[in-house]
This record gives sequence, structure tokens and C-alpha cells, in this order.
Amino acid sequence: MKNRWSKKEASKFIAKYGKKWGEDLALRTYTSRLIGEAKELVLHGGGNTSVKGVFKNVLGKKFPVIYVKASGQDLSNIELEGHTGIDLDYIRQLQNLKKLSDEDMVNEILTHRFNAKSRTPSIETLMHAFIPAKYIDHTHADAILVLTNQINGEKITRDALGDDVIILEYKKPGFELAKAAARAFGENPDCKGMVLMKHGLLTWGESARESYERTIELVTKAERYLSKKCRKPLKVKTTTSLSKARERYLKVAPILRGLLAIPTGNADWAYSRFILKPLINKEILNLVDSYKGKVVALTPPLTTDHLIRTKAYPLWIDELNYDDEEKLRGKIKTSVAKYIEKYDKYFERYSKKIKQKINRFDSMSRVILIPGLGAICAGQDVVEADIVKDITFQTLSAKMKIYSMGEYEGLNEKHLFGMEYFSLQHAKLARKDKFPLGSSVAIVSGAAGAIGSGICEELLKNECHVAVSDLPGDNLNSLVDEFKAKYKERVIGVNLDVTNPKSVANGFDKVIESWGGIDLVVVNAGIASVSSLMGMDPNTFRKLEQVNIEGTLNFLSESGRHFRVQGTGGDVVVISTKNVFSPGTKFGAYSATKAAAHQLARIASLEFAEMDVRVNMVSPDAVFSHGKRKSGLWAEVGPDRMRARGLSEKELEEYYKNRNLLKAKVTAEHVAKAVLFFATRQTPTTGSTIPVDGGLPDATPR
Ligand code: ZN
Repeated sequence: MKNRWSKKEASKFIAKYGKKWGEDLALRTYTSRLIGEAKELVLHGGGNTSVKGVFKNVLGKKFPVIYVKASGQDLSNIELEGHTGIDLDYIRQLQNLKKLSDEDMVNEILTHRFNAKSRTPSIETLMHAFIPAKYIDHTHADAILVLTNQINGEKITRDALGDDVIILEYKKPGFELAKAAARAFGENPDCKGMVLMKHGLLTWGESARESYERTIELVTKAERYLSKKCRKPLKVKTTTSLSKARERYLKVAPILRGLLAIPTGNADWAYSRFILKPLINKEILNLVDSYKGKVVALTPPLTTDHLIRTKAYPLWIDELNYDDEEKLRGKIKTSVAKYIEKYDKYFERYSKKIKQKINRFDSMSRVILIPGLGAICAGQDVVEADIVKDITFQTLSAKMKIYSMGEYEGLNEKHLFGMEYFSLQHAKLARKDKFPLGSSVAIVSGAAGAIGSGICEELLKNECHVAVSDLPGDNLNSLVDEFKAKYKERVIGVNLDVTNPKSVANGFDKVIESWGGIDLVVVNAGIASVSSLMGMDPNTFRKLEQVNIEGTLNFLSESGRHFRVQGTGGDVVVISTKNVFSPGTKFGAYSATKAAAHQLARIASLEFAEMDVRVNMVSPDAVFSHGKRKSGLWAEVGPDRMRARGLSEKELEEYYKNRNLLKAKVTAEHVAKAVLFFATRQTPTTGSTIPVDGGLPDATPR
């Protein structure tokens, strides 16, 4: 692998950070980033780095200090604060203890930090502290794990890396490993590094550069060795095309997402959901379609660092019948149930042996492998699902390499359990659902308009994953760009035409491809026109019928079909209008077609209730704009209304404000809040309407 050390870059870090924190930490930050940027060395918060130095306190007193990377901190974007300073003299003394529980270890580390605001450092802090070298780099390099995770791994590792490295048998990260590593270092202080079997690599040096370059040197050595040895690729049984795999994924994902959802026991919020990410490429298809695929995949994780994200084992499902939905569901259901049962037994077996009380994790698989389809990765949100996807790809690629030269050997279950329920790991996993919509997916139609964009924004603020859908064009593109800059992977843009059922179905598929399913459908697309009945052009009327009625129908029927397949309930909110209850002159086409859409929504509430799908309506009065987005409806209607009443645009806004009881200006945010009320299931309500109009007695739903 490439040595990316650059004198120029290093001096930039010294110039930028050196003054505040000193040269040592500046360079520590630089090479930590170099390591973090190399996916073949560490993934998503894995690995850790440290540097030893001197800390001066407010009284001017000096102490030996060790700065260790904070737990879960991603090395690729680490800042100076990403390393936590600890009293080195003190924690070194812990080495003299015979035993130290995980809890006590954490307590000693946390109470001996030099900055109360600094974060909890890595679980491998003591290993960094007990080894006396100034700089230490610890990675979970793929090439090293391919060597160590084999039968005869020790011999293979020695063969590949020569006598310059120490090889240490597996020990659980924490006190035990730290003592063993320090002892091994003491016996061979001139070595360049240490391979931790079934775990990773450790290198050290007197400078940041020396330690970094040793990592690169040893990993390169391992890679060269593997390129000579990995000679027998897995034999493939059948070949699946990428398009076929994708087609199958679209069938499987909503069913699987529904079955993975964990019942909560709460009637209003019945499931804890997952976001799914497909991992479908040539390499993974070759693995799942090979004779040995199942054996290769169902081996323990490469390193325990991955385990907390992916669980120890994936779920393998074979012989799926894609042409029969019931059989497809039946097979996935029994496979998921068996996985849960197996996990429960594993938990019971090992938790009995642990004295302290442990918080149990759910029993659900995070990685699902299916021949002829590929891998499906699950996380509580898209960020986590993407992490699982990266780890799964790296893991399976490494395992394929191992099987092309030998036989896999991973950690035993006892070790796996020890790491999964190792208390320090849990900080990385804390469930973030302070927002109820954090694991939910929404699609909003007519999203590029004033009300639509307001609804999308409110849902995004509440951590929902939002498919922003509208007719293709600049309006939609600019909105999606704007949202993506802020909400990143939680946003996708979906081009669709609500009047075309095929286009709506394709739009839903695009959402399923991105996140695995849909939980909330906001039917918002609508158009208006101004004309008296006597002057009405039948073609204009038909156009409104198409968008406002058929568009609503297409969205409702596609939602119903999707919710039935997914089987975890859902919510539909139809944006109705005050005109349904209180129509206006020259507004026949709009009022009549919106009334039909409103009625369709009520029917949907009757038909979908048995699936626990709630269908509700929000009926706003005029909304003129949302930020810079003008309402399309008001562009159409406004001028006529202004003319009719002899008012300017501003005056017209005032007019609408003054006609309601509360003298309130109705905004897109107000409409969005009403949608949010239904979407978060605050009350057991369906088939109902919330007016958002400041109080218009004529328009009160009845
Ligand atoms: Zn590690």
C-alpha cells in the first residue's frame, strides 16, 4: 500500500495546530488522518493512535501525559480534541495490578484525564500506555487479518512478515491485552510492530512518521505475500446479473424490512425499524453464488471491532422463490425466526457466566446474505446501515481471500460474546432515537412547491429519511441539492409524475432501493385553475382531475400495496384544502377535484385500517410561499384574486390573514407541523382532518 507521508503536508499541520498544542500532537493528528483515510487499514471509528508527552497544568506543574484517540472517533477526520489526555504516570501503575474489571478500568481512565470535557478514550488505552514508545498506531488492517484469521495463522503471519514483528495470541481488548502486549514488547523492544492475532496490528516509533511508515511497511509486506498465495478463487455455481439481483432485491427488501422490525409493545409505535442498504456487486454475487459461499460467510467476524455493528454472524437465506410472494415471505420469515432463536440461545448460554447485570441487545441480524441477490445490510438509520455495508464488504472480501489460500479460523463464541457485551463498546452503539422518525422513511409528492418543501424540511429536521418527489426539472433538483447539503444521505430526489401509475411505482422502487421500504406517504401534489363554471374549458378540468384525483388515487393505491407487503403498518397524510369544506367562486375545478381526493383519502382510511395504516388529512388555507419557493397554486390563483378584490400581493396576504379568527398567517411550517402530528402518531386517529387556517368557521370539517 502507498506510503502517503508528505513533508509538506506535515508542516502544514504543524503550522496550523502546532502553536496551540505543540508539534507532537499536530503530527499525531496528521498521521492519524493518513491512517483513517485508508479503508484497508481501518473503517468507521476503528483503530486508534496515541502520543506521549508532557502536560502543564494551570499551576505550571508538569506531568507525563498520554493522548489516546477517543472511542468511536473516526481517524479520517480527527481534530486535536479527538485525542484525550490522561495522566500517564498514574495509569501506568495499573500495570502492577493482578486484576482489573472493565468498569474499574474505565473509572481509573476517566478520573485521570487532564481535561474534564475530553471524551472517553479508546478501550485500548492501557495498551498504548503500558508500551513505552512515544507514538503508537493501532489498525485492523485487512491484509493482516487475512493472515491471522486462518488455521495455522501464526505460522502464516511469521512466514509473511518475518522476524521483525512480535506475534501475540488473541486476548480481549482491555487490561488483559494491555498487560500481555507490554510484556511482549519488553521482551523484544527492537521489533517494528506487533501482530495481535485475530485483531490487528500495532506499530510504534519515536516519531509520528516512523510509526506510520512501519504500519505501511508491514501491511505492504502482508499484501505482497497474499498476492502470491491467494491463487484459488471460489468456484461459482451460477452467475447472476446485476440487473436480476436488483430486481430480486426490490421484491425482498420490503418483506425483509417488515420482518426485521422489532415489536415494541407500544400500540401507537408498534415497531423499532431498520434502514436497509443493498450490497450488490460482482464480487459479492460471486461469493453468494459459489459452492462454498455459505461456509465462507457463516464464519465469525474478522475482528471484534466489527462485531458490535454487524453481530457475530450474518443470516443466510437460500432457495427463495421470487415468483410467489407468499412463499417468499414464508421462507424469509422462518429464516429470521431461526436466527432470533439462535441468538437468544447464544445470549442465554454466555450471559449466565457473567456476574454483573448486562443490558441485552436485540436478537436481530444486521447482515442478510441471499444467493442470486447479494447482501442486505441493516442499521437504525442510513448512516449506520452504510457502516454495516462497508464492514460487510471488507469482511467478505477478506474471507474470500482466506479461502483462496487456506481455511478460515475466527474467534470462538465465548470471545465473541465477551466483546459484544463489553461495556466500553456500548457507547458506540447507543440508540439515537430521541426522534421517533429516526428510522422512518417518507415520500412526499409535489415536494418542490411551497407546502411540499416545507413538509420535507420539517420531516428532515426530525431525522426522517425523505424522498423528495416531483416532476423532473430545476425546481426539484435545486431543492434536493439544498437539502442534501444539510441532511446528506437522508435525502433522495425522485422524479415522478403522479398521474402515471407506472411512474409512481418506479418512484416507490427508487425509495426501496435507497432505504429498504417506506413508512410515511405524504400526498401533496396538486394543481389549480381559475374559471367560472360557464367559462370552464373541459380540458383544463380534466387536467385537474388527472393530477388532483388520479394522482391521489395512484399514490394511495401504491402505498396500500407497499404497506401490505411490508406488514408493519404505516401512515398516509393527504394535503387537502379549506376549499373542500368551503369552496370559492371561480374555483370549481380545484374545489371539486380536491373534494374527490379528500373522499378517496377517507375511503383509504377505511380500507387500510386493518393493516394498521392510518390515513389523515390536513386542510390548509392559502400558503403563499416557503422561503424562496413560491406556491405554484398561488401563482395561478393569486393574480385573479388580487384583481377581483383590487389588492396587491402583500395586501392579498393581509386579506387572508385578517379573514380568520386568529388573524394568523398560515405558513408551510404550520402545515408541516400538522403532518408531523399524524406522522408521529400522537393520537389513535384515522380518517380525520386537521384544519390549518387560523379558524374559518365555514371551513370547519363536518
Ligand atoms: Zn483494536
